[in-house]
Amino acid sequence: MIDVDVAVIGGGVVGCAVARELAGYQVSVALLEARGDVGDGTSKANTAILHTGFDATPGSLESELVARGYALLTGYSAVTGIPVERTGAVLVAWTSAELGVLPELAGRAEKNGYDRCEIVTADAVYAMVPSLGEGALGGLTVPDESIICPWTTTLALATEAKLRGARLLFHHRVIGVRPEPGATTLVTGAGDVRARWVVNAAGLHADVIDGLFGFDRFAVLPRRGELLVFDKLARPLASKIILPVPSAVGKGVLVSPTIYGNVLLGPTAENLTDRGDTSTSAEGFEFLLSKGRAIMPSLLSEEITASYAGLRAAAGRSDYVVEIDPSRRYLLLGGIRSTGLTASMALAEHARTLLTGAGLALEPRAALPDPPRMPNIGEAYPRPYERADRIAADPEYGRIVCFCERVSQGEIRDALTSPVPPCDLDGLRRRTRAGMGRCQGFYCGAEVAALLSGAPG
Ligand SMILES: Cc1cc2nc3c(=O)[nH]c(=O)nc-3n(C[C@H](O)[C@H](O)[C@H](O)COP(=O)(O)OP(=O)(O)OC[C@H]3O[C@@H](n4cnc5c(N)ncnc54)[C@H](O)[C@@H]3O)c2cc1C
Repeated sequence: MIDVDVAVIGGGVVGCAVARELAGYQVSVALLEARGDVGDGTSKANTAILHTGFDATPGSLESELVARGYALLTGYSAVTGIPVERTGAVLVAWTSAELGVLPELAGRAEKNGYDRCEIVTADAVYAMVPSLGEGALGGLTVPDESIICPWTTTLALATEAKLRGARLLFHHRVIGVRPEPGATTLVTGAGDVRARWVVNAAGLHADVIDGLFGFDRFAVLPRRGELLVFDKLARPLASKIILPVPSAVGKGVLVSPTIYGNVLLGPTAENLTDRGDTSTSAEGFEFLLSKGRAIMPSLLSEEITASYAGLRAAAGRSDYVVEIDPSRRYLLLGGIRSTGLTASMALAEHARTLLTGAGLALEPRAALPDPPRMPNIGEAYPRPYERADRIAADPEYGRIVCFCERVSQGEIRDALTSPVPPCDLDGLRRRTRAGMGRCQGFYCGAEVAALLSGAPG
């Protein structure tokens, strides 16, 4: 049986951040993930915004951790090469009621410790985003709102966790919990794991794990968000994130550039009961088109490359559900709904503080490996196919496999031999962009699949 000091359940961005954080200390750490890869749940299907937290509820844990997470992830991205672009955002008021809310939102930003928002006139909004639809009455700027690669973020955290000695246990779905004196045995389909401390970062299933520990304190309510991805030719239309005025129901539908050079429209917000339903719907598609037509009519003349949906792990509360039980040596990180990508590293830091407060002794390791330098899959930084020096040193970077996204055989090889390699085509896409372009893998799919399976290309 595997025996560790700390087991982290869930290999999303939050679990990977926690595993990385704790593996920096003299404790053995295992990450138990039900699927065959990290970042294959909600962490792969979101809006990919690195939030300043300007609109969070002041005084909430979410407000504190989003602001801290923004700073931590910005610094970590610079070190590891996670693609980030500080595009800034403009929140647009379309009605007089929304215009009236802007001072309150600016005040909320100040209360959240963010003092760079500015209320601007309609003319200023149109000067910033000339392609905006008619009828904007004014706006609020958020200069530091950024776009980030969610896939590289989770991978960098998982890679560093592994380099620091954490064990990544895939296909380890936790199905039972056996309390023992001084430890807990986690029962999984792939064998038991005994841990002195357990961190529950199981996202959409965090309440189920919580139930296995005997708690009945919250229920996850999956809230689906569907998004449309527009072709790269649309990118000049949206140089900034265009936000709506948030309402009681959520953050609303936005238009955002992506780190890969596309434009996103979404997300919807629909309460479901099925925690696995990440399908897209005709209703969602129509709803988004109607919103997009009003926000930016010219966007609808561009082609839609793809659509996808992610499920927010809502918990019927307006804040994260983070609670520690020192007697059971168990920490719950639940209800991480709409901001968990941004807050991930701060959640990990917070988890460490709670665990040490509850009695887990953490001594820093004497020597830690350098953080990994991740391959760049962002459009704003040079990619291997653009770099003559890299191609000269290694001609495989000049051999393009995926022509839509300009992915070279060298990058696919690097992904397949990386510390946390993909287990399927979707995982390879998240590491390289192969197959996510206009043709959606129609032309390169067979060759990429052959490379994945180790067959000659
Ligand atoms: C539409 C949408 C838009 C969003 N936009 C943003 C944004 O712009 N910015 C932002 O910061 N955040 C955003 N978010 C939120 C963000 O994506 C999430 O908060 C974050 O990904 C949650 O990460 P996680 O690790 O908690 O969950 P997950 O990524 O879901 O990871 C949980 C993992 O636990 C595993 N698991 C579950 N049960 C078990 C078990 N029994 N045993 C073992 N493993 C298990 C799952 O397989 C999964 O891999 C958005 C979310 C959605 C849905």
